[in-house]
Amino acid sequence: MSKKDNDLKKIYGKIKKKYTQKSVKERIEALFLDNIGKVITREQIIEVATDPKTKKQPENWHQRLSELRTDNGYTILSWRNRGWLRVEEYLMLSSEKRPNAGKRVKPDKKTWEAVLQRANHACEWTEGNEICGLKQGAVDPIGGGKVKLTPDHKNPHSINPDTDTKDINQWQVLCGRHQVMKKNYWDTNTGKMNVYAIIQSSTTTEKEIVFKFLLDYFGYVQDEQGNIHKIKRINKK
Ligand SMILES: [Zn+2]
Repeated sequence: MSKKDNDLKKIYGKIKKKYTQKSVKERIEALFLDNIGKVITREQIIEVATDPKTKKQPENWHQRLSELRTDNGYTILSWRNRGWLRVEEYLMLSSEKRPNAGKRVKPDKKTWEAVLQRANHACEWTEGNEICGLKQGAVDPIGGGKVKLTPDHKNPHSINPDTDTKDINQWQVLCGRHQVMKKNYWDTNTGKMNVYAIIQSSTTTEKEIVFKFLLDYFGYVQDEQGNIHKIKRINKK
């Protein structure tokens, strides 16, 4: 299919009214339900996510969007599911919800307290040798907003609703940003890693390493001024 064909069929959604629902998630949900089959952009989501009274723009709309998928059970497509959607474009094709969504197993109160204690009441996400360590209520220096710690099942594939609720070893403490990151890193349906999301969330130093690798891989060099040139290769026989 050519790009032109795609563009012709791609209909963008509209914000048809003021959304006054109390929660960010409800306003985003209403926007999608009013635009079934139409493409919703990041800017539109941010517009309705913005508090109608205080005009405060939430930093964590991405998380609410992911809850609409995981907790409410909606299927919201993105560029990961449809090649013709651009990054940060989303599409709900039907208002149908997956019936078992939201019935997630959680640790019981006592277990969660024990997990929090083990974690020293801080996010346990580990990258390289560094632990996130953000505490409840602290300001997230990367994602912005106040940190809310929630339980994460370490291995969602092997969940046992009868015993896991009482087993502290099955759980870890994660901040909101790392909950989203974990969901984005792994597609629990396909078991594949989302390389793009991983690179997006990596540090500038890590991105530079990947950038250099890609230049090498595709046969480009970067000169001292930062300009990129294709390497002309002479094929030896
Ligand atoms: Zn964290």
